[in-house]
Amino acid sequence: MRRFNLRSLSFGERNEAERRLFCDVEPFLLGGVEYELADAGVDIELRASRVGGRLTLHGVGVAVVKGPCQRCLGEASLDVPVACVEYVTDGESVARDDEPYVQGYVLDLEHWLRDAVAEALPPQIVCRPQCRGLCPVCGADLNEVGDGHGH
Ligand SMILES: [Zn+2]
Ligand SMILES: [Zn+2]
Repeated sequence: MRRFNLRSLSFGERNEAERRLFCDVEPFLLGGVEYELADAGVDIELRASRVGGRLTLHGVGVAVVKGPCQRCLGEASLDVPVACVEYVTDGESVARDDEPYVQGYVLDLEHWLRDAVAEALPPQIVCRPQCRGLCPVCGADLNEVGDGHGH
């Protein structure tokens, strides 16, 4: 799913609701290279609390981002924690953006999560923190050729 109707939430006595949702998320383009999410989406725990006509939405999950390591071009897979909050009044986002996440009680889940994942991405996507990358002269994988490599 990419959109979620907030009217379908059933609030308990404490005016809180919880739903587990799977949201499809399109691949990200970073520096012209495609990074996709494992399972092409993210599993999210949506929690809503209600006070009168106001809703506070919390989305929590972990996106697994897959694509080439930006140092050695090998396969990188990265767990990106997602935690986003949105405030809603009478079925509309409180923040008056051009493209609000919530309009007419419909949450644009994909847009919301996509922005949250993009914000949570590290500055560089690497296969492991200690990846040594490629030799700038010959392009050899310095993880494989070892310390003695030089020109
Ligand atoms: Zn690497
Ligand atoms: Zn070299």
